[in-house]
Amino acid sequence: MTGGAGALEERSYWSDTVSGSANALAADVPAAVSDAQRAPLPQRVDVAVVGGGITGLSAALALARRGISVAVLEAHSIGWGASSRNGGMVLTGLKLDAATLLARYGRELARELFRASVESVDLVEQLVRAERIECQFSRGGHLALASKPGHYAGFERAAELLSREFNHVTRLVPRAALRAELGSDIYHGGMVDEASGGINPAQYVAGLARVAQAAGATLHAGARVQCLERLGPRWRVTTARGTLEAGEILVATSGYTGAVTPALRRRLLPVGSYIIATEPLPEPLARELSPTGRMMYDSRHFLHYFRLTPDRRLLIGGRARFVPETERTVRESAAVLRQGMLAIYPQLRGARVEYAWGGTLDFAFDTMPHAGCIDGYHYALGYAGHGVALATYLGTKIGAAIGTSELGANPFGRLPFRGAPLGLHLGKDWVLPLVAAWYKILDWVD
Ligand SMILES: Cc1cc2nc3c(=O)[nH]c(=O)nc-3n(C[C@H](O)[C@H](O)[C@H](O)COP(=O)(O)OP(=O)(O)OC[C@H]3O[C@@H](n4cnc5c(N)ncnc54)[C@H](O)[C@@H]3O)c2cc1C
Repeated sequence: MTGGAGALEERSYWSDTVSGSANALAADVPAAVSDAQRAPLPQRVDVAVVGGGITGLSAALALARRGISVAVLEAHSIGWGASSRNGGMVLTGLKLDAATLLARYGRELARELFRASVESVDLVEQLVRAERIECQFSRGGHLALASKPGHYAGFERAAELLSREFNHVTRLVPRAALRAELGSDIYHGGMVDEASGGINPAQYVAGLARVAQAAGATLHAGARVQCLERLGPRWRVTTARGTLEAGEILVATSGYTGAVTPALRRRLLPVGSYIIATEPLPEPLARELSPTGRMMYDSRHFLHYFRLTPDRRLLIGGRARFVPETERTVRESAAVLRQGMLAIYPQLRGARVEYAWGGTLDFAFDTMPHAGCIDGYHYALGYAGHGVALATYLGTKIGAAIGTSELGANPFGRLPFRGAPLGLHLGKDWVLPLVAAWYKILDWVD
């Protein structure tokens, strides 16, 4: 696996950049917050948030700032889920391209949805600056890369649509000019969007936890929610650490959504995504790989996403396995990802891979984020790989709106949220391999 001697760490690289971290697969939060996470549960709160990632913490911050009592209930440690394990790409746009957004939702709603994605990046920047969250945020843009010649023609159409319909400026990079953007010859051109940024996600989620807690939210680790029961106008919430009553519930469990909220579970596809990170690279090599330091991803369905870390490692991820992460899938995916890395950058043959990890993404069946109310509780999820910015946005919006007439104002709340086509769902073992096979076919024909 490695290019030289040295052990491969099967844990998130980002977790090693956060003090007090000791988790196998993900980051933990600083010691001060961890102590408070062991505090007893309150008996009653206005709002109980299920899930302590970016969605839950952003919502808790907004609620606490309004003087509303809020407890964040997290099954593992705060930030344990995708929020601390991702690629740290703070991206404009949605998983669906501009043409699909317009065709599916019409001009007005498509514009609102796209605008929200751009605002979500601004919101991350504002939060980081206003709350002094040290998380290496930088607004260096992203570069989408055409894996096939026909995909570059698609970029040309997309750039024109983005400008005309969404007033959003991007820049096309033809194949001949691509060396100014990356040290690889395998792509057929690219499209730069300067509005995106990069972040250290474990430091970001730890910072959100600190700020939410300072605003008055209580954070509870090891408090897996086991049952949600309606008691007249209130809820009884049973957790692994005891019971509490809440006026409102927000479910923010993303790709880890389980049996406690069956209506949400039926509407989501949990997808394993995996990442490796090399040893720190010599400066000239790092500059050759990514002269501009942008966040990069290619145009396949089974895509690769890659970037430099601030200490000059190449971090590359992909949907190498279409199943949620386990130790075995992390190890197997690391080997697949290294092959992918060398296909893009043969110059990394001698570079040691030091970290490998995985996490679970959440896809709705229409590949769009969703926020609203179902079975009496609130939810926000379905980010489809765009959650660093959009989970901040939707968490903040819902936290600001619970208990007000503004709840429906968010454009994602207006999208129909349907279950799996033909009633297929994920209790059935053969569904994910079927979806994986479908994506492979799409990559072959597309
Ligand atoms: C490998 C990987 C790479 C990614 N890269 C990017 C990227 O570069 N850019 C980007 O924008 N997005 C990326 N994403 C997606 C992004 O990380 C997520 O969309 C985002 O973090 C979702 O945040 P969240 O708070 O909704 O969910 P999570 O951070 O997943 O948190 C959900 C939490 O709910 C908890 N939970 C579940 N059930 C219960 C229960 N019953 N009781 C209590 N707690 C419970 C879980 O333990 C978990 O901690 C990536 C994801 C992965 C996995």
